[in-house]
Amino acid sequence: MLYAEVALPLRLSQTFTYRLPLALRRDARVGARMLVPFGRTLATGYIVALHDSLDPALGLDENELKEAEELLDAEPLITTDVLEITRWISDYYAAPWGEVLKAALPAGLNATIEQIIAITPEGRDELSRLPPRRAVTAKAQVLRLAADAGTTTLREASRELGQPRAVKAVRELVRAGWVTVAHRSRTAQARAKKRKAVKLLPPDEHAGNGARALTNAQQQIIETLISVGGEMLFAELLELAHASASTIQTLERRGLLEVFVREVRRDPLAGARLPDRDELRLTEAQGRALGEINAAQEEGKFAAFLLHGVTGSGKTEIYIRAMREALRRGRSAMMLVPEIALTPVFSRRLRAHFGDAVAIFHSSLTTGERFDEWHRLKRGEASVVIGTRSAVFAPVSNLGVIVVDEEHEASYRQQESPYYNGRDTAVMRAHKERAVVVLGSATPSMESFQNARQGKYRYLRLSSRIANRAMARAEILDMREVFRSGGKPEVFAPELLAAIEETHARGEQSIVLLNRRGYSSFLLCRSCGERINCSNCDVTLTFHRSERSLICHYCNLRQRVPDACPACNGAFIFFIGEGTEQIEEILQKLFPSLRIARLDRDTTARRSTYEQAILRFGAGELDMLVGTQMIAKGHDFPNVTLVGVVSVDAGLALPDFRAAERAFQLITQVAGRAGRGSLPGRVLIQTYHPHHYALRHACAQDFDAFFDEEINYRKNLSYPPFVALASLLVHGQDLTRVQATAAEVRRALDEANAERHVRVLGPAPAPLARLRGEHRVQILLKSRSRPRMRALIEMALGEAASIPGCDIGSINVEIDPVNLM
Ligand code: ADP
Ligand code: ZN
Repeated sequence: MLYAEVALPLRLSQTFTYRLPLALRRDARVGARMLVPFGRTLATGYIVALHDSLDPALGLDENELKEAEELLDAEPLITTDVLEITRWISDYYAAPWGEVLKAALPAGLNATIEQIIAITPEGRDELSRLPPRRAVTAKAQVLRLAADAGTTTLREASRELGQPRAVKAVRELVRAGWVTVAHRSRTAQARAKKRKAVKLLPPDEHAGNGARALTNAQQQIIETLISVGGEMLFAELLELAHASASTIQTLERRGLLEVFVREVRRDPLAGARLPDRDELRLTEAQGRALGEINAAQEEGKFAAFLLHGVTGSGKTEIYIRAMREALRRGRSAMMLVPEIALTPVFSRRLRAHFGDAVAIFHSSLTTGERFDEWHRLKRGEASVVIGTRSAVFAPVSNLGVIVVDEEHEASYRQQESPYYNGRDTAVMRAHKERAVVVLGSATPSMESFQNARQGKYRYLRLSSRIANRAMARAEILDMREVFRSGGKPEVFAPELLAAIEETHARGEQSIVLLNRRGYSSFLLCRSCGERINCSNCDVTLTFHRSERSLICHYCNLRQRVPDACPACNGAFIFFIGEGTEQIEEILQKLFPSLRIARLDRDTTARRSTYEQAILRFGAGELDMLVGTQMIAKGHDFPNVTLVGVVSVDAGLALPDFRAAERAFQLITQVAGRAGRGSLPGRVLIQTYHPHHYALRHACAQDFDAFFDEEINYRKNLSYPPFVALASLLVHGQDLTRVQATAAEVRRALDEANAERHVRVLGPAPAPLARLRGEHRVQILLKSRSRPRMRALIEMALGEAASIPGCDIGSINVEIDPVNLM
């Protein structure tokens, strides 16, 4: 092949064609990474196609094509399946293909490539011929750098010479044969981990040595090796056989064993306690649902299911069996879970069922662990993958089934470029690979439920809990009344405190949930109502007691707590809303014997802290979890009989059309945490909006009633799922410029949208009008036709790009945005 088409991980939608030098023509493969010149530098691109000739339609001039530098992978990293799905994402979400490909590879592989420049003997000769004092030319400077330590890097050279000069000098030096250039990935971790190991050699090779008897220490080593099957890590052998390194070396010299280097696997679950895997008899409802899923697998065609099962109805058991069926058919299986919160529990469960066939991906894996898990899948050593959003790109082949648990979760949506939704990508991947996809939830998203209603998804329902356990009773506690009768705002209604006390007295567990973090949410002046907001982000600052300061959760701005209200100078600054820390403190004071763990983003930055708390709570070593919504989901603690929601109001007040849906989901999910064992559960929800429809229906656990009311609202106001939505967010430090760009884009949209197939709203300030020091202005688009909307956006942005002062690079294009902040 003579030409390679390459996608670059840049904000560019097009691909680039390069000429392949002779040396690369044979080895270049689609899906491999290649170093190519771009502008005045080199960039790592992904080969997406190879061509024998140039397509005349592209209008490329053979003589103007640049030549590719170097192939980085002998084996392509991107499988054809993954290439396909990334291309779909790039099309559907208007995301640069190269960025999507980059996101599809584990971080360790995306490490920046460093060019190592080594001086040759000829180079040294040349250098010695140069005037000794000063190296004047760029070439001489690079030579000297390399000569000093034997090698240098392009980075180093660029620091001294500027990149363009350095690149040029290196190219000339290579041509002259004075240096050689090799490439090395800069993240040292992202390589296979290697350790010294010891292997017993087969007896016939050392039969002649039998004459010399072994010392006790030597005997000990041989026996230890035999007991583990003949091979173990050097360090472990030293410890287990109480041996010294020299004894092992002696044995090696005598030809009895061999010391070698082997790859060791970094296993994210190494040493983890695995749950028992009991063989349950499926309930009739489970059996029916599984039967349909497996029948679809039998057909070997694409099928999508929405598994709508109340919490505790046994969905997980169905997932596991559907995956087992895929393996039985010699195919592979994938399970996506919303976020790190759920992976420790699920990955242990899957490991218990599938052993080493499971590979795990989530955000808190180390680079090394991720790298190893990825390679196990790629090499086919693992055939089940569980992970968060980006696991949808796992290099598994022959997918039989994909499970998306808690499909309604917003965390399936990537919140930075490339914007994509892991759930929707999973459906598309299943479609392309003729697999079965199962979307599971107790509270399906409006979009998925509507798809099920229209027959796009097959609908499976589990309407009762296992063993017909009662659903938890949810009750609303009207905080306005608590305020009226007490004369001051209270954190807890007396009913909730009483319930906590009773639950504790019975030796049962409780969960107290709050939708915020920090000690206390914000400051409010009682006399004038002024709040203290972040000067960069336009969101209220949160008071953190441990640091005695106000912190912005978006940009991390830190500020001292003022003595008086900055607006009216009044002294009545008052904390409204409470944080997990404060709640923990109040409860601990009221109930000293309560063993409480607090889980929020502050305490769980480290994976182990989070896992420890969850595992200890599960084992009954803790009485209460206090936390943010991350504790609401998925866990199965049979001894939890009380869930208290301290405040739902903040969530209801968000300027987002999905606020009601989110509140409904949150309450249904938490209610699902109570009473999962044989004990009945109780859910108490504190609110200042007791009549809100989302709360009423959530308390009644009535999904259908909520759906009917919500879908009407969506229809009347033209929101998804009735229209496709897109947002164009213009951001930048200069407000005038941001506004000018937004106005130009709006104009271009109107011009290209003569028939008004697409409704255009804005530009308006985004709800977060300032973020990380930038102004944000957004334009929203609504249309019944997503392709038409996509075409319009492309046309308008292309148009706007040619207008001076209009900065297209400052626009984030989001198709199907999930978060409109
Ligand atoms: P969901 O995922 O729908 O919330 P789970 O799959 O976690 O529900 O199941 C709830 C509980 O019921 C778990 O403890 C699970 O082990 C148990 N369970 C599931 N299926 C059965 C069954 N067929 N028989 C007995 N117990 C079951
Ligand atoms: Zn801020």
